[in-house]
Amino acid sequence: MPSSPSALAPTDLAVCDCTMAAAPHQHGERGMYNYHRCRCTPCGDANREYNRRSNQHRKRREMVDADLVRARIAKLRESGLTVAEIADLCAVNAKVIEFAIKGRNGKLPKTVQASTFRALNAISFKDIASLQKPGGRKVDGTVPRLQVQSLHSFGWCGSEIASRIGFTASTISSLLAGNGITEEVRAGIDRLYTQFHGTTPPLDTPAQRARATVARNRALANGWTADTATDYEYARYSRAH
Ligand SMILES: [Zn+2]
Ligand SMILES: [Zn+2]
Repeated sequence: MPSSPSALAPTDLAVCDCTMAAAPHQHGERGMYNYHRCRCTPCGDANREYNRRSNQHRKRREMVDADLVRARIAKLRESGLTVAEIADLCAVNAKVIEFAIKGRNGKLPKTVQASTFRALNAISFKDIASLQKPGGRKVDGTVPRLQVQSLHSFGWCGSEIASRIGFTASTISSLLAGNGITEEVRAGIDRLYTQFHGTTPPLDTPAQRARATVARNRALANGWTADTATDYEYARYSRAH
């Protein structure tokens, strides 16, 4: 019967009955802890010491500074790639990339696995060019639409978004109505989304505050949230693989 640290009499302790062992197991050896499941204090100490020593030789994952990784991701996004496209190109799960950028519960990771960094660095100009679409080309509006919707939940209205990317509010209205957009607008919205997702627009004048309220109410009424766009990117990634 396994004995416990609260055993009082020597008869409560495990007894080694091994017949084939070179030497009988003794208390205070890992064999007694491991094989005879003795939980007396000396055996527990021996087991801890064994684990401590073996941990010293454990192979550790190679990590790199997360700032380097975030800088690399930012560069890739500048060139017009979405997180989902970056994930596809380097064969890293989109959630891993998302976590490197945003962290969890407002805490950014300090390090990222070196293998992720190497995969991101391996994305070449050729890879990006193969995905690059000419500025005026019509592209699918699904992701930018979700990004605009998500920005609404922070108070970014259509005209504010449009003016920042150099287009008119009607471009955004048309997108929200379900139409496609040009690559130029898509890239602009993606840039804006990366920069301003999670922030509120300027609220200095009464007009700005009113517009932000309208935008937030619109988001509330339609169920657009902070996660509207990222949820979709995850879903799309898991469908593709
Ligand atoms: Zn034994
Ligand atoms: Zn023992």
